[in-house]
Amino acid sequence: MSVQERTYIMVKPDGVQRSLVGEIISRFEKRGFKLIALKLVHATPEHLEKHYADLKGKAFFPGLIKYMASGPVVAMVWQGLDAVKTGRVMLGATNPLASNPGTIRGDYALAVGRNICHGSDAVESAEKEIALWFPEGVVQYTNSQESWVFEL
Ligand code: UDP
Ligand code: MG
Repeated sequence: MSVQERTYIMVKPDGVQRSLVGEIISRFEKRGFKLIALKLVHATPEHLEKHYADLKGKAFFPGLIKYMASGPVVAMVWQGLDAVKTGRVMLGATNPLASNPGTIRGDYALAVGRNICHGSDAVESAEKEIALWFPEGVVQYTNSQESWVFEL
């Protein structure tokens, strides 16, 4: 766990269509995480198959790829203390019906196949996902609030 930890967070096509981009960004900003990469992309099925390579073979895999390729997504990298685990807590459970109110999925979603957001599940997968979605790299800058958010 470090102040430099990074996670890959993505607003899925349903989150974009439902105008939840600002809401999701706002939650990460207000929590104190630092935005170090962001773009709107309409990903190809081939790219999404790489992103979800671990799930290949699951019955829901073809439907998942079709859903994720159905419109643009917002790809982001957020940095801060325990970013991977805390990001997952903020997203809620994979199945929104099991997500607590106060989480993104628990507040805005109902169906597992339309759960509006993605977050990396481990530091190693975060690094892989960041490299896949941002081969150009992330942006380095100083955020003047850092000493108010972290015990630096
Ligand atoms: N998914 C689905 N049906 C399932 C399980 C997963 O449609 O039974 C979809 C869902 O959109 C989920 C994504 O596949 O977010 C990736 O699954 P994973 O287990 O990695 O969940 P996540 O890490 O997104 O919580
Ligand atoms: Mg996952």
